[in-house]
Amino acid sequence: MQSPPLLISHLLRYGTTIHGDQEVVTWTGDGTTRMTYAEVGADAARLAHALRSLGIEGDDRVATFMWNNAEHLIAYLAIPSMGAVLHAWNIRLFPEQMVYVANHSAAKVVIVDNTLAPPLSKLIPHVKNIRHVVVKGPVDDAARAAFEAIDHVEGVHDWAELLAGQPDSYDWPEDLDENSAASMCYTSGTTGNPKGVVYSHRSNYLHAIGAAMTLGIDQGERTLTVVPLFHANAWGFPYLAMARGVSLMMPDRYLQAEPLVRFIEAEKITSGAGVPTVWNELLRAMDAGGHDTSSCTMLMVGGSAAPPAMMHAFQERHGIQIVHGWGMTETSPVASLAFPPANAEEGSEEYWKYRYAQGRILMGVEARLMDFDGNEVPWDGESVGEVEVRGPWITGAYYSNGTESEAELAEVAAKFDDGWLRTGDVGSLTPNGFLYLSDRAKDVIKSGGEWISSVDLENAIMAHPDVLEASVIGVPDPRWDERPLASVVLREGSDASAESLRAFLDGRVAKWQIPERWAFIDEVPKTSVGKFDKKVLRQRYADGGLD
Ligand code: ADP
Repeated sequence: MQSPPLLISHLLRYGTTIHGDQEVVTWTGDGTTRMTYAEVGADAARLAHALRSLGIEGDDRVATFMWNNAEHLIAYLAIPSMGAVLHAWNIRLFPEQMVYVANHSAAKVVIVDNTLAPPLSKLIPHVKNIRHVVVKGPVDDAARAAFEAIDHVEGVHDWAELLAGQPDSYDWPEDLDENSAASMCYTSGTTGNPKGVVYSHRSNYLHAIGAAMTLGIDQGERTLTVVPLFHANAWGFPYLAMARGVSLMMPDRYLQAEPLVRFIEAEKITSGAGVPTVWNELLRAMDAGGHDTSSCTMLMVGGSAAPPAMMHAFQERHGIQIVHGWGMTETSPVASLAFPPANAEEGSEEYWKYRYAQGRILMGVEARLMDFDGNEVPWDGESVGEVEVRGPWITGAYYSNGTESEAELAEVAAKFDDGWLRTGDVGSLTPNGFLYLSDRAKDVIKSGGEWISSVDLENAIMAHPDVLEASVIGVPDPRWDERPLASVVLREGSDASAESLRAFLDGRVAKWQIPERWAFIDEVPKTSVGKFDKKVLRQRYADGGLD
C-alpha cells in the first residue's frame, strides 16, 4: 500500500473542497459573519503566503491570542499546513504564566483579535521572540502604538490588509514528516510551570478520525464550539470539522448563556462542545424559556465530570443528549466517549449508568489501571487504580527547550511509565471498556484511612434541586487527617441549609462521607478554562474550614 504522510494540509484540502459549501459562522452578539469552507481554504492560502512574507519558515512557531472565530480556524489550518507550528495561547492565563508559556515556545509571530490587543500589548514586551503582530479587525491607534513602541516588534499588521492581494492558493508542502510538529498546547499548570504538549500531523489526523467516528458527527451538523481553540487542542474540532464537513458555529467573545441561546436559535445549531459549567449556565437560560432551541440535540461535555442531574435535565426538559467524554491536553484530548452499548435499553437504569461514565475507551487508545504498588488492576467495574493510556494521539513526552530545571525534568519523567502516560486520574473500568473516574489523584479526600471521591459527593449534592454548583475539597482535620468541605452555590431565592443538604445526602452516599463543613458562596472559583478551581478553595479553607 502507499503511505503518504498524514498531514493537516490533507484535511484542509479535503474540507475546503469536498465540503466547501459548509460554513463557519461567527457570532457578533446581534448578528453573524459567515464564510464557506471554500472561502476558508482561500484565506488559509493567503495567510500562509502572508506568514512567509513575515519570515516564517521551517518549524517556526506562530501564536494566536484569539476567541473562537473564523480567523482562528483559518490559522488552525494554515499554520500547520505550511509546515510551521501553531501555538494557541490561553487568553485567560495569569500574566506570569502567559509570559512563561510564550517565551518557552518562542513564537515569532502572534495573531490577535483586536478586542484582545490591549491586554496582549502589555505582555509582548516580555515575550522577546515576537517580531510581528497581526491584528484581526480594525487596529485602533492606541493598540498599534503600544505594539510599535516595543523594541523587538518589527511590524504591526492588519489581518485584512495583510491577506489582501495574496494568492488564494498555496502549494502546501507534501514532503513534511507526518511525525513532525503541527501544533502545541500547554497544560494549565495547576502545579508548577505549565507543560507543553506537541501534537504531530499524524496524531491530529488520527485523533480527528477517531473522535469523529465515535461521536458519529457528520455533515449537516452545526456545532457550537464553545470549547476555546486554546484549550486542549480545541478537542480536535477544527480538524474533525474538515474531515466530516461539519459546520462550526463560533461564539467569539459572547460566551454567556443568554447570547449562546440566541445563537442556537438564530443558526439552528444542532450540537456543541464545552465544559460542564458552561452547559449548566446554558441549561438555566433554556429553562427560562423564550427561545426555540429545538434544533439542538447533542452536547458533548468534558474537562471535568458532568453531573448526572444536569444530563437528566437536558434530556428530559430539552431533548438534548449530553455526551460525556474524558481526556486531557496530553491525549489530544479525546480518549473516551460515553455512548451506551446497543443492548442497553434506552432510558433504563443500565443505559443511564453508561451515560454517566466518563466514556468508553476509543479505538486507538489503550488503557490500563495501576494500583499504587505498580500492579495492574482488573477491569471489573469496581477495582480502582490510576488510569494509564498509550496510543497514536497520546503524548510520549513534554516539550523541552533546554531551559527546564532538573526538578521539572524529573517531574515530567515521572509522568511516563514504561511507554504509558500516567494521567493522574483515578477510577475503574468495566469489562466492556467504560471508564468511571472517581477523582484526580490530588483531589481524592483521605479521611481516616478511607478514600472519599470528591466527584461522587459533588454529583450527589448537585442532584438537590436548590443547588446550582457544588465543589468538594479535602481540608485538614485533627482527627481524620482530612474531611470533605462542600462549597455550594444555591439557586436564587433558596434557603436550603447545611442541615437540609446533609439530610438530602443521607441514603445517597455513605453516612461517614457526608460533610460536616459547608460553605455557601456566590460562585465557585473557576480555572482559565472554566473548571472548578479547587486550588483556590484549598487555599481559602487551609485552616480546616471550621468556624
Ligand atoms: P487541566 O489540567 O488544566 O484541567 P486539561 O484540560 O488537560 O487541563 O485537563 C485534563 C484533566 O481534566 C483530566 O486529567 C481529568 O482530571 C479532568 N477531566 C477531563 N474530562 C473529565 C471528565 N469527563 N470527568 C472528570 N474529569 C475530567
